[in-house]
Amino acid sequence: MTDLITTTAEALRQHGFLVHCAPTREEAVRCVLSLIDEGATVGVGGSMTIRELGLAEALQSAGHAVHWHWLPEGPAAFAPAREADVYLASANAITTEGLIVNIDGTGNRVAAMIHGPKAVIAIAGVNKLVEGGVAQAIARIKREACPANAKRLGLTTPCGLTGRCNALECERGMCNVITIQEHPTGKRPYHVVLVNEALGY
Ligand code: SF4
Repeated sequence: MTDLITTTAEALRQHGFLVHCAPTREEAVRCVLSLIDEGATVGVGGSMTIRELGLAEALQSAGHAVHWHWLPEGPAAFAPAREADVYLASANAITTEGLIVNIDGTGNRVAAMIHGPKAVIAIAGVNKLVEGGVAQAIARIKREACPANAKRLGLTTPCGLTGRCNALECERGMCNVITIQEHPTGKRPYHVVLVNEALGY
C-alpha cells in the first residue's frame, strides 16, 4: 500500500470508520461482498466506481436485492435504497485527516450515507485521496469529478461546457450539497474500502 493509503486509513480509523485496504479492484469486490450478510438488501448511490467494479451485478449474482437508480428501476429505487440494510456508495474525496467529502446534486446519496440504512460501505480508489484538508478535497471534486459528471449527463453547466467550475454563473444541476463526514452517524457500522487503483473520477 502507498503511504497515502496507509496515512488515510489510520486517520479514518481514529474517526471511528472501519477501514479495509484492497490492493486491486478484484480484491475490493471480494471485500465488499464479504461485508454484506446473506439476504441483505443493498441500496446504491450513483457512482462510476461501483459501475466500473461491476458491483451491482456481483451483488445480484450473490442473491441480494439491489436498489440503484442507475439500473432499470430508475428513480423508483430512491426510497427502497434509503431503507435498505446496507448502503453502498463511493466517496468523492477523502482527506489524509480522515474526512469523507462528497458533493451531490440530488442529495439521495449523501442522505443515505448519513441516515437510514443499517450499515454503510464507502469505496474510494487511490485517486480520491487528498493530501490536505476540506478545501483541497472540494477543489479536487470540482476539478476532476464535476466536469466529467456534467459531460456524462450532458449538462450545460460551466464545468460541462468548459471543463472548469464557474460557480457564480452556474444554475446548479449538480453541486447543491456538500457534506463533510467526520464520524459514522447513529453508531452504524460504516466501512471504508480504500483501493490501490484509480477508480471513477
Ligand atoms: S458549481 Fe456548477 S460549474 Fe461548478 S463544478 Fe458545480 S456544477 Fe460545475
